[in-house]
Amino acid sequence: MNGERLDPWGTIEIKDYDRLRRVFGIRPFSEVIPRMRELGLPLSLHMRRNIIFGHRDFDKVILEGLARGEKIAILTGFMPSGRFHFGHKLTVDQLIYFQRELGAKVFVALADGEAFAVRRLPRREIIRLGIEEYVANMIALGLDPDKTDFYFQTNRGTPYYRLIQLFSGKVTMAELEAIYGDVTPGKIVAALTQAADILHPQLEEYGGYKRVVVPVGADQDPHLRLTRDLADRLHDIAGLERPASTYHKLIRGLDGGKMSSSRPDYTIFLTDPPEKAVWKLKRALTGGRATAEEQRRLGGVPEKCTVYDLYLYHLVPDDNELLRIYRDCRSGTMLCGECKTMGAEKLKAFLEKHQEKLEEAKEVAWSIVEPPRF
Ligand code: SF4
Repeated sequence: MNGERLDPWGTIEIKDYDRLRRVFGIRPFSEVIPRMRELGLPLSLHMRRNIIFGHRDFDKVILEGLARGEKIAILTGFMPSGRFHFGHKLTVDQLIYFQRELGAKVFVALADGEAFAVRRLPRREIIRLGIEEYVANMIALGLDPDKTDFYFQTNRGTPYYRLIQLFSGKVTMAELEAIYGDVTPGKIVAALTQAADILHPQLEEYGGYKRVVVPVGADQDPHLRLTRDLADRLHDIAGLERPASTYHKLIRGLDGGKMSSSRPDYTIFLTDPPEKAVWKLKRALTGGRATAEEQRRLGGVPEKCTVYDLYLYHLVPDDNELLRIYRDCRSGTMLCGECKTMGAEKLKAFLEKHQEKLEEAKEVAWSIVEPPRF
């Protein structure tokens, strides 16, 4: 690994995704696209646009499962410690694609134990955030609550906790430190609990889904490597198989840094009042030039532009329209002021439509997710 370490709890920026793939042995996602076409599977927006850039065993686990008509599942987890933003939406869009287009069962873990141990939030607030921020926004985005298993980790039940206990006997401190650096009791429990999240759908009690994929940002790969090793070590005892994973590029915050709940001025939340979100967008870092004259002459740089990121990841689903914006920016035909006005309209329309569905989605969320008793 050349001494490099990815830190899922850290704030590193990952700029060179190709280099990252080579260093950590993640395969390029482009290599599985021909097989998807052969199987007649549609590509998601994020697959088409190379936002999903890598995978481990997606072909062996998921595509071969689909080719044989076997059931598949997709799992993700969220730590309910802040507000739901466009970075979260990127993952939820992938869940919706797998649910609608590939018929996958969806599992969503709410990492309330981790929020308590690592972020030190009050339990009641963690539970409220889990249901009203995370589950409600996911339902309002279009995730079908009837085909999704949302759960709080601390409520999950005996077979799930049996896995965590067994994992603790199959991993050493040296291994955990090699993956995570400094570890605390809370981080160790969180790491083993996440492994149980990923692997427990394979148990009969939770549906017996042997073919599971986990969509993650590249910074989460250490969890995947640990989980794959644990699956091997418990293969004979619990019949666990290695999961597949896909890796997506992280959307940047509006200043070019990390998009995160802890940086609210640079992060657009799906519950932001539309005017507030537009205010943030108008101040966003662009790839524009110092003067209008220079931009007309040299063109803008969409690759550096956080407004373009919003188009690419979320606000412009039509590939032809996106291409037109890209060309108009590069050629200097469109300047940043005009482009931001267009972005503001798209953002406002998206948020208004989304927020119309949110109150009803909150009611559904409280009715389908069992909150932990304490
Ligand atoms: S024209 Fe649009 S896409 Fe290009 S740099 Fe300016 S804001 Fe970004």
